[in-house]
Amino acid sequence: MATKEAPYLDGGMDTQQVLHMNDGIGDNSYANNSLLQKKVMMKAKPILEENMMRLYSIIQPQCLIVADLGCSSGPNTLQLLSNVINIIDTITCKLNLKLPVFQFFLNDLFGNDFNSIIKSLPQFLESLEENKGHNFGPCFINATPGSFYKRLFPDNSIHLVHSSYSLHWLSQAPKELVNKENAHLTSTSPPAMHRAYLEQFQKDFKLFLKLRSQEVVAGGGMVLTLFGRENTRDIRTAWTIIGTTLNDMVLENLIEEIKLESFNLPLYDPTIEEAKEVIEDEGSFTLQRLESVVLGWDGNINEDVDDEKNKLDINKRAQFITKYTRAATEPLLKAQFGEQVMDEFFLRFKNKIFQLMMDVEILEFPSLVISLIKNA
Ligand code: SAH
Repeated sequence: MATKEAPYLDGGMDTQQVLHMNDGIGDNSYANNSLLQKKVMMKAKPILEENMMRLYSIIQPQCLIVADLGCSSGPNTLQLLSNVINIIDTITCKLNLKLPVFQFFLNDLFGNDFNSIIKSLPQFLESLEENKGHNFGPCFINATPGSFYKRLFPDNSIHLVHSSYSLHWLSQAPKELVNKENAHLTSTSPPAMHRAYLEQFQKDFKLFLKLRSQEVVAGGGMVLTLFGRENTRDIRTAWTIIGTTLNDMVLENLIEEIKLESFNLPLYDPTIEEAKEVIEDEGSFTLQRLESVVLGWDGNINEDVDDEKNKLDINKRAQFITKYTRAATEPLLKAQFGEQVMDEFFLRFKNKIFQLMMDVEILEFPSLVISLIKNA
């Protein structure tokens, strides 16, 4: 790996200002390309159930206050609300308690498409009332724009914090990083670069836990899901492929070299041990459970298709991976490299994924599901 003459900052780009998923409901939108994240959320549901069951064994609130951090927009945002309401419905039925009033706070960064969520609420609330009948009290839904690396709520005000597929986004890429031809960690990155990314994650995650510990009531819960990594030096992720694709385009003069030099993705996928260490070190929460859910890069989409004829071939699966990667990273890449190169970039990215799928039999990644209890 070539090194730069001098350390540099992350291109001066403010992650918190630029980062959001592709908005709206178009072909490249997050709303239309978040099936993988939905799958992981459904796999994490039993852990959410367990956490809420435990919560209800010590607190039976008249109004249950839930915050979803990094809610984005699209079907997953409201899916979480339905999941929580259904879980509480079952728990209160079992314990012979009245269903509480619900208050949800939906948080994401300022650039998030909150308008789409808000426009979909009347239909959502109507179908809830239809399904739950008159037992169902008011359900208040609020938008809370802001970074979860800052305070979002008053002291001791939240019973449950949920966050799915958001906490691997760092507050910023590590600064002073020498990473000329890549956009993230690769198998050949020097130890200092691993350290820089790990330290940024430790700093951010610790801050996140500290801030939430002020906001969550004693005995309250948190269920966090994020991209994870196996404990191996052999790194193969979509982020490394973003880097090699960008580098190819630099070599062909389609992208300015300086733009890639000053760009690193503000993401980190910790190992189980790395996540655990921060939680124990910070100390405000007790770890109830930490599990790794392994999925193929293609979200194992063919598992859901019974008919052999309708199973997706490698080309379509590569397209699927490209589309969810585009929905999640395009605003960030566009801000750095310009809108005009995006179609070409994602075409090349898809070709690389296709080739990788031809060459490598198994392409999988773990997601970490972390269930925490706020200490008294
Ligand atoms: N929870 C949804 C969305 C995941 S996409 C789902 O499971 O499908 C990740 C979201 O995290 C994005 O919308 C992104 O804007 C948000 N995000 C990233 N960093 C954030 C931060 N610091 N504060 C709040 N939201 C953040």
